[in-house]
Amino acid sequence: MTATYDVINPATEQVVTTVSLLDAEQTDEAIARARAASPAWRAVSPGDRARLLRRFAEVVDTHREELAELEVRNSGHTIANARWEAGNVRDVIAYYSAAPERLIGQQIPVADGIDVTFHEPLGVVGVIVPWNFPMPIASWGFAPALAAGNCVVLKPAEVTPMTAMRLAELALDAGLPEDVFQVLPGKGSVVGQRFIDHPDVAKIVFTGSTEVGQQVMAGCAKQIKAVTLELGGKSANVVFADSDLAQAAATAPYAVFDNAGQDCCARSRILVERTAYEEFMAAFETAVKNVVVTDPGDEKAEMGPLITAKQRETVASYVPDDSIVAFRGSAPNGPGFWYPPTVLAPTDLSDRVLHEEIFGPVVAVVPFDDEADAIRIANDSEFGLSGSIWTRDVGRAIRVARGIESGNLSVNSHSSVRYWTPFGGFKSSGLGRELGPDAPFAFTETKNVFISTS
Ligand code: NAD
Repeated sequence: MTATYDVINPATEQVVTTVSLLDAEQTDEAIARARAASPAWRAVSPGDRARLLRRFAEVVDTHREELAELEVRNSGHTIANARWEAGNVRDVIAYYSAAPERLIGQQIPVADGIDVTFHEPLGVVGVIVPWNFPMPIASWGFAPALAAGNCVVLKPAEVTPMTAMRLAELALDAGLPEDVFQVLPGKGSVVGQRFIDHPDVAKIVFTGSTEVGQQVMAGCAKQIKAVTLELGGKSANVVFADSDLAQAAATAPYAVFDNAGQDCCARSRILVERTAYEEFMAAFETAVKNVVVTDPGDEKAEMGPLITAKQRETVASYVPDDSIVAFRGSAPNGPGFWYPPTVLAPTDLSDRVLHEEIFGPVVAVVPFDDEADAIRIANDSEFGLSGSIWTRDVGRAIRVARGIESGNLSVNSHSSVRYWTPFGGFKSSGLGRELGPDAPFAFTETKNVFISTS
């Protein structure tokens, strides 16, 4: 009997659809089809592959609203965020559509001949996606992989398969050949594990928790299989007294509560220079209370529900009754996995709320004394994915940005992911980089060829 999964709308707790889950045998069949499609796909001329990807981006563009609405229903993302996400997929595919014609090798001076390098596709690439940003994270893997001439098998998270499945249909509508890009809904322990164990999958791109990432890497080690890991985070938002405090406080809620805090880049630790602590907290309280937490389909919604009841339980476990809660925002009552934006003020720097990834709308604020103290506290983490620095002193901004052990830092703003700049983590936040101009090269092997002229 085929296993199925009921997809639940996290804002209403109603079943949206029921999805059939692939078993190991069906996964193997899909990988075999991808492998069979591989020689023809890599042989498509660079210009034609570019054209197909451009068409794919255009088809995504014409279905942007449909994709966004699907994501609201499946993931509880606010409609504004979901529209941005669908647009991001379009942009990522369009950006990498330029790559097939730019996979440029080198010509290296050697004696008695010519030496050139080629960037050969790997074959079949397995992309494993988490539930928090189902669309963008999928595209950050599949778009550069396809552009570099690989076939892709992609496993969405069990709870959020809908937009990825639709993207696979849109790829076919755009003219991508059958089996070049397949989306395979299923369990991590079944479909994901087959990607890792199957000898015909040449590389794994994994985004998810650090714990599963470790297992993925260990599994890949058995076959010396290439792996990119994008894992958890506990990013610091460092606010100096010389910064535009009003702006820092007004933007801080959105840096952590966006997507209900289910963001690997969430600035879930706020470090505030002690002399500015009171002033910051007063303005921050007003800003947190103004965050609009409501039906994610509402145009005004700034935060929706958590993804599942289980996730809400996990998040709530970080706020036991004896927590030092500074203040909280609001959340609807009734059906849906709601949790209000919550600001904690722990007094002990070893408190787990300052170290563990909560992945919900909970932020911990602590004071610091000076620049060195700020860097020390920011780096007192197993993670190093992103972070923000608020100061008007350019020298300090650069010193602190260089001092923080993190892959993506942002000064006087909270941006972290632009598809045309590299993204990834230090320490337990990951291995390798996605996005940016070099991403397609991470889906190739470099081949060196010497041609004798003697
Ligand atoms: P998860 O690790 O539980 O699952 C991620 C994916 O891996 C899912 O598709 C899951 O089915 C699959 N999986 C589970 N077990 C597997 C196995 N044994 N073999 C192969 N695949 C398996 O993570 P999640 O709960 O879906 O996502 C939340 C986590 O993702 C958070 O820790 C978050 O920080 C992280 N994340 C990181 C980034 C980043 O770019 N660094 C981005 C988004 C999310």
